[in-house]
Amino acid sequence: MIIQLSKQITEEQKQLVFTSIEEQNCKWREIDTQLGSYLLVLGKIGFDIRLIGNLPGITDIHRVTDDYKLVSGKWKTHPTAIVLDDQVSIGAGDLTVMAGPCSIEGEEQILATVEFLEKLNIRIMRGGVFKPRSSPYSYRGAGIDGLKLWHSICAPRGIRIISEVMEMDQIDAMYPYVDIYQVGARNSQNFNLLDALGRIDKPVMIKRGLSGTIDELLYSAEYVFSGGNEKIILCERGIRTYEKAYRNTFDINAIPILKEKSHLPVIADPSHGTGIRSLVEPIALASVAAGADGVIVEIHRTPEKATSDAQQTLDFDEFGRLCAKARAVYNLVAG
Ligand code: PEP
Ligand code: MN
Repeated sequence: MIIQLSKQITEEQKQLVFTSIEEQNCKWREIDTQLGSYLLVLGKIGFDIRLIGNLPGITDIHRVTDDYKLVSGKWKTHPTAIVLDDQVSIGAGDLTVMAGPCSIEGEEQILATVEFLEKLNIRIMRGGVFKPRSSPYSYRGAGIDGLKLWHSICAPRGIRIISEVMEMDQIDAMYPYVDIYQVGARNSQNFNLLDALGRIDKPVMIKRGLSGTIDELLYSAEYVFSGGNEKIILCERGIRTYEKAYRNTFDINAIPILKEKSHLPVIADPSHGTGIRSLVEPIALASVAAGADGVIVEIHRTPEKATSDAQQTLDFDEFGRLCAKARAVYNLVAG
């Protein structure tokens, strides 16, 4: 059960609520986020809401039967929108497109991408500076200096940055330069990292693990929310199956089921979800048709020269066509 507390609740009033919960043999956990204060009540199913419903300082009470609570769609009447600024929000009833290279490589590449994104009126650029690579000999990213350079080019133009954080130590170092932290598939259940991201006030996009279930992704999101950060985006990026014809199997079912189970915005990553350039557009369009709030796509001016994930990276023309079609599909399904 989730009890929403009023901003004006006094310590005395809180104590009355705590006592009432304990009298019913339940445990509670207090959660303060950027947006609200909540009491999570864990315990017996037959909790009698009437015994606390009239106590002062409570604004609402919701019974949530799911094991994850705060990210469940059972208690919010509207989908959550993640607002970055007046111009940019995710899940607010418009298609969000994020695009950029797999890895940030240098000034020339950043500038070319930014100028191209501006032409398409795309406000969020993706790129990795800390790269999780299967082989230790592959390119592992431009690091914090690469992020600073990237930020110095994007910030004056109002382009927002999403980039992967791989470990707790990087959170503070990245903080001034990122707008959205990405938790990669390999870290989807790194609970220490998720806990730490719960303590900051910037949005976090959590990717589904390589073999993660839908519930595991939602529990990961619950870690961040219960740590105090409500600004969460879920991302389907394909899972590992027995099929070897493509890098990962994009789970299209994940999109509508996540939208059904949770109030959080859902983004599709058809680049990692397929691993093959020719599949990126059809799977992006299918995701939008399935109800995704947006897509995140790997692009490069010269994909064949990209330092990582070249085989799944679109060139600018391919991506421009994808965007136009994705918007048309979005208008069709949202209308
Ligand atoms: C990425 O977005 O560059 C990335 C490494 O993705 P994933 O964690 O989904 O493999
Ligand atoms: Mn990549």
